[in-house]
Amino acid sequence: MAMRQKEIKKTKTVCTYCGVGCSFEMWTRDRHILKVQPVVDAPVNGISTCLKGKFGWDFVNSPQRLTTPLIREQGRFRPASWDEALDLVARRLKEIAAQHGGDSIGFIGSSKGSNEEAYLTQKIARLIFGTNNVDNSSRYCQNPATQGLFRTVGYGGDAGTLEDLQQADLIVIVGSNLAENHPVIASRIKAAQKHKGQKLLVVDPRMNEMAERADLWLRIRPGSDSLWACTMSRYMFDHGYADAAFLNDRVNQVAAYRASLAPYSLHYASERTDLAVGQLIEAAEMIGQAQRVCLLWAMGITQHSHGADTSTALSNLLLVTGNYGRPGTGGYPMRGHNNVQGASDFGCLSNLYPGYEKVTDAAVREKWARAWGVEPTALSAKVGADNFMMVQQAHEGSLKAMMIIGEETAFSDADSSKVHEAFSKLDFMVVQDIFMSRTAEFADVVLPGCPSVEKEGSYVNTERRIQRFYEVMPPLGDSRPDWRILTELAARLGHPWPYHHPGDIMAEAASIATLFAGVSYARLSGWQSQLWPVKADGSSTPLLYTDGFKFPDGKAVLWPVEWQPPQEEPDEQYDLLLNNGRMLEHFQSTNQSGRGGRMFNLSPNWFVEISPQLARERQLSEGDWVNIASRRGALQVPVTITARAAGNVLFIPIHHGKPGINSLTGDHHDPDVNTPAYKEIAVKMQKLPRP
Ligand code: SF4
Repeated sequence: MAMRQKEIKKTKTVCTYCGVGCSFEMWTRDRHILKVQPVVDAPVNGISTCLKGKFGWDFVNSPQRLTTPLIREQGRFRPASWDEALDLVARRLKEIAAQHGGDSIGFIGSSKGSNEEAYLTQKIARLIFGTNNVDNSSRYCQNPATQGLFRTVGYGGDAGTLEDLQQADLIVIVGSNLAENHPVIASRIKAAQKHKGQKLLVVDPRMNEMAERADLWLRIRPGSDSLWACTMSRYMFDHGYADAAFLNDRVNQVAAYRASLAPYSLHYASERTDLAVGQLIEAAEMIGQAQRVCLLWAMGITQHSHGADTSTALSNLLLVTGNYGRPGTGGYPMRGHNNVQGASDFGCLSNLYPGYEKVTDAAVREKWARAWGVEPTALSAKVGADNFMMVQQAHEGSLKAMMIIGEETAFSDADSSKVHEAFSKLDFMVVQDIFMSRTAEFADVVLPGCPSVEKEGSYVNTERRIQRFYEVMPPLGDSRPDWRILTELAARLGHPWPYHHPGDIMAEAASIATLFAGVSYARLSGWQSQLWPVKADGSSTPLLYTDGFKFPDGKAVLWPVEWQPPQEEPDEQYDLLLNNGRMLEHFQSTNQSGRGGRMFNLSPNWFVEISPQLARERQLSEGDWVNIASRRGALQVPVTITARAAGNVLFIPIHHGKPGINSLTGDHHDPDVNTPAYKEIAVKMQKLPRP
């Protein structure tokens, strides 16, 4: 036994699936992952994990891993040395920048990579190429939520900690399948329901586990959530639930906002949300009577053509009822990827430096230029192209090259056939990934990076908590940690940066970005963590807005929004609405959960959920195959008949298929943030002969 124990290595790591940020010990012998052991010291999850964190690691040793750089030659990839591949990347990017300017190149950083890798990605774009054309996958999911928080309370992150959630009297979940997508947070809420009498209100067009557990579930019409939120806010004012003292002392634009709510009567809302007036009143009374309300939302809100406005409306509702600045209150957008928060925090955004400092602010540019040792004029004052704009520009021909790090854009971006056309038009494309992804298939050079367990770094979870992860095993084959690849590329581009360890990169970011002033690897060692904003003395801010909101006068802003219907709705020709989302067993493109067997085999096939009523109308039985067609494309799936779906709303999981769900989505998007309206797809359905 003693011998056996000696051979086992135990290393702290952080889950690389969702944004909850569970950490645990990984037990290994050589490259064999023996088990994942949650420990009481883990600040987010303690001894809990979910299916993916516990068993979803087969991809690490998958035979499909990339282990050597690849260069495309005469339409085929051939192995290459690191020197040859990196020299080629540096030479081509320099040539394209010299010929067309830095703005002809776009960079997409990884929401699965580390904070340090996100920092280096934006530094290469901004410092070396003088462009703000840099983004990450938050454009596809979380940017609208962040915009809503920027407008109303100021910080682009959850108001408090996940522990604080348990102090709420009432949890409101809007447009989030929490039990499948953020299971460990859902467990906390289930425990608070059972042991503390916490109430739960769920607003969602699809039945899910939390809806079934809710004290009240509102099966709302898709795309009407901001109308619901505005109606709730008006009810608070009309029925004495608005927090007058809070509004008077801590909030601006109260009168203008209240006036903007005039159209949102209960009857107006009832006609447009499919909710009875009585249901609306019951929900409003739950919110109004609660002393502490936390409101959680996710892709059901943000992936619409007005997701930023709906996020704003939800935050407004919290302000009206005084639900910010106390434990058990506040807005909690549920971040999807393990480091989608950190990729944004550390500057992979087309308008913001690390720490959410504006590229359009001359003083900010001067600070970053001084720190990086260049003249301020070397840094672009122009907001860059985001993911959406990069694809548009590549399609039009003005964007000539892209570097995509750890993102499955060819599968995950909306209107995928247009994305594929755009990639095919680029003069040069480099992809850094651990697999030959569907995006990498378009590349000229593919650079093999490493998953988290083969490198060191840090992530930020949904509650703004920064945590370190450690190297569990060495890189596979000739793959390299992504921060090293980026550092070596920068050196070839004439910028030999002195980074010997990710801690050096974090030290630089913390020395410049005020938000991370006191962040250091020493303070993050082991199971320690820090929650931003982190003061210079290293102290965290677990709960935001206790003293003031992040505006010059410290007051929050009630930001009027006007409900607008979805950009694409069912009509005579395309008479059904297609909803889509994640499943517990998988994560996004399945590049992690789908490689290696165990996880994928739990749910290897896709399906379309239809309501019993629709099944009767269309004479469909369980397992029948149907063709689902939108104005962009079509796919074939088997039917599952379930009460989770209702009326003319279908649901397909986003994980499966080639070309996948995004062969159906379109390029309509939220004009405020350029997030695709993934959830607004009008489709028609036709029964196929059984195969
Ligand atoms: Fe990983 Fe999220 Fe599951 Fe935690 S809840 S183990 S972070 S997938």
